[in-house]
Amino acid sequence: MSVRFAPSPTGSMHIGNLRTAIFNWLYSKKYNIPFYIRIEDTDLSRSSKVYEEEIFNILNIIGLDYNLFNNIIVRQSDRFHIYVNIAQQLVHDQFAYYCICNSSYNKDNINFQKIKCDCRTLNYTSGAIRFKTPINKIITFNDLVYGTIETNTNEIEDFVLLRSDNIPTYMLCVVVDDNWMNITTIIRGDDHKTNTPKQILLYEALRYNIPQFAHLPMILGDDGKKLSKRKANGSVMDLLNNGYVPSSIFNYLLKLGFGYKNEEIISKDRAIEIFNIKHINKAPCIFNENKLQFLSKHYLKTESIHENIIKNMITKYLEINHIGYYSNNITVYWDILWKELIMRLSTYNDLYHLISFLTNPGLVLFTYDKNVVKDMYDFISNN
Ligand code: GLU
Repeated sequence: MSVRFAPSPTGSMHIGNLRTAIFNWLYSKKYNIPFYIRIEDTDLSRSSKVYEEEIFNILNIIGLDYNLFNNIIVRQSDRFHIYVNIAQQLVHDQFAYYCICNSSYNKDNINFQKIKCDCRTLNYTSGAIRFKTPINKIITFNDLVYGTIETNTNEIEDFVLLRSDNIPTYMLCVVVDDNWMNITTIIRGDDHKTNTPKQILLYEALRYNIPQFAHLPMILGDDGKKLSKRKANGSVMDLLNNGYVPSSIFNYLLKLGFGYKNEEIISKDRAIEIFNIKHINKAPCIFNENKLQFLSKHYLKTESIHENIIKNMITKYLEINHIGYYSNNITVYWDILWKELIMRLSTYNDLYHLISFLTNPGLVLFTYDKNVVKDMYDFISNN
């Protein structure tokens, strides 16, 4: 038994992805099973190592430890030959066929009959490989969050498994790898809910055991619209760069879509204790930065690590700004200063405005410096 987090490194990590990672991590801790990471980089032109590094960096900062499957970082781009073989095997077994059409079969634009491609009966020997979706079959699965979901295969197109340039698609790779890695429960965003019946068809064709599925409700912005990767407030890195304390991000994302009694402040240990998929809500949830700020303030005050980090940050700042007197004597006045600061801080970034009086009363001399924030996260990662 195991769970996995399978991000695509095609952009800066979105809070929805981090929430998926958090729920998988909790599931693995709760049931004491491995939590694997798999990098889904089949889209070669959009995937980047920079985003991949960011994913691992964020997991470290938020404190989500993971297991390496077979002691390696699994990247789908390293496994193309395996997916190609399996796609060809599916053609051989008559579950799939070669298709020479370039058009994508978009079920919104054309009627049901048309979404089954004409090439399915023409026995081509090259081209893209499409799955031969059965006609008029009901696919049922029991989603651990949404309950029973039924789909008639007449609504499912003959989806592509291998493109004509020999690049496998997400739909094929995800099934092959989840089976290979013995993933028994798949927890992911509900944008993948409609992919599940297709994947079940593939599981059946390949005679793999079908895992359990749990889809997490969508996160909406306070305008009620979907948060997109491109929007600043959907990026985890932006939240970190804005100085939110990592535990507050964990707590906040856990609470987005998860309710247990009326508990608002939930530490990692407490989360593991109370975690149960049945406490995940179905309704979409609204991202609200004020709540995150409230939690960040709470954790700044209550986690002792922050006092040291902030003391280091201030000392370093004073040194950089050649304010030797204060930096040499910070321990003398630290207790008083800390008491004053902690009343006023919600995020690390609030610090810059508050400590300006140390250099020149009334003047904000410290310009915003992202490197200092980065130092803080390095400090957390290394301690
Ligand atoms: N790579 C997919 C994504 O980032 C996740 C696929 C899955 O969890 O099945 O959305």
